[in-house]
Amino acid sequence: MTLADTWRAARPPAAGVHLDSAACSRQSFAAIEAAAQHARHEAEVGGYVAAEAAAPALDAGRAAVRALTGMADADVVFTTGSNHALDALLADWPGERVIACLASEYGPNLAIMARHGFEIRELPVDGFGRLDLDAVGAALAGDPPALVHFTMLGSHSGVVQPVRDIAGACHTQGLPLIIDAAQGFAHLDCAGIGADALYSSSRKWTAGPRGVGVLATRPGFLSEDTRNRLGHAETNVGAHLGFSVALGEHIAAGPEAIQARLRDVGAATRQALTQVPGWRVVEDLDEPSAITTALPPDGVDAEQVRARLIAEHSVLTTYVDLWRAPTVMTRPALRISPHVDVTDDDLEVLTAALAAVPGV
Ligand SMILES: *Cc1c(COP(=O)(O)O)cnc(C)c1O
Repeated sequence: MTLADTWRAARPPAAGVHLDSAACSRQSFAAIEAAAQHARHEAEVGGYVAAEAAAPALDAGRAAVRALTGMADADVVFTTGSNHALDALLADWPGERVIACLASEYGPNLAIMARHGFEIRELPVDGFGRLDLDAVGAALAGDPPALVHFTMLGSHSGVVQPVRDIAGACHTQGLPLIIDAAQGFAHLDCAGIGADALYSSSRKWTAGPRGVGVLATRPGFLSEDTRNRLGHAETNVGAHLGFSVALGEHIAAGPEAIQARLRDVGAATRQALTQVPGWRVVEDLDEPSAITTALPPDGVDAEQVRARLIAEHSVLTTYVDLWRAPTVMTRPALRISPHVDVTDDDLEVLTAALAAVPGV
């Protein structure tokens, strides 16, 4: 069986065509079962006893995160999502409140930075919105921020940011680096970046349950108080188990094989979309991610298109409004983010449906 066949066979059949993994992937039977069985176990033996029994499986989940990030000695805690991790990191930050990030930073992240009183500096980019490698060293050296926050793959476009280059530049300048891997984790190679902190969400490319995320930090980066609070807060243990199972499945499938397949999926999706009159793909055809952003023809409302694709064609995509990257987005778009199991037939259904939407 191919990777795609195995991945598809491991989960309930989709009702239609699911092209929405950047928002929320489809969970496997095993991940769903792990959470459900834990709830049953809580009812049988009590929630705290059941949590003790679940500890080894949760440890395995945290070990998987250490392996996938190459952060062998990291403190790993489960969170309720990526924003929760950033909020905890910035609340804990003891230094000066000046942070550098890309102008295309995820809107809700910008709001969290502002809420914690951070002054935001923009990292230099090229005409494509990608980190400008020629200018970044000088920018960081000239007027250094206290902290760098880098989103390796955004929510508003599939343009992959050079995360290892920013890590190198931060290292040269001795600047701490936080990585938002909400879209990058279990999608792009996250191993050995050299960040002080990296966080992600369970429901996106890892295909775990909703309402869960993970934060990995270099030992000593978080205060003991914050680590204790994150480690002892009331949590959904069953959901953490489901996420841990999804992490195990990801590792069993082979992270490199998944990364390679997702690059092919992105290229095939963009190639398919070139057939649809009036729509324009933002990324290069071979941009190495599985996120495709399509701009509608003038006068066509992407939000309505997304709704009609679901209602009339059972095709699930994402409506990408300007809040996702408020500084750089000028028009709403449609995001198409299939996982490894997408077929040519699925992409044909999408392109035929898009071409059939009125207003084109
Ligand atoms: C989804 C997303 C987040 C927020 O993740 P939550 O788990 O919903 O908090 C942050 N950054 C990026 C780039 C995202 O795509």
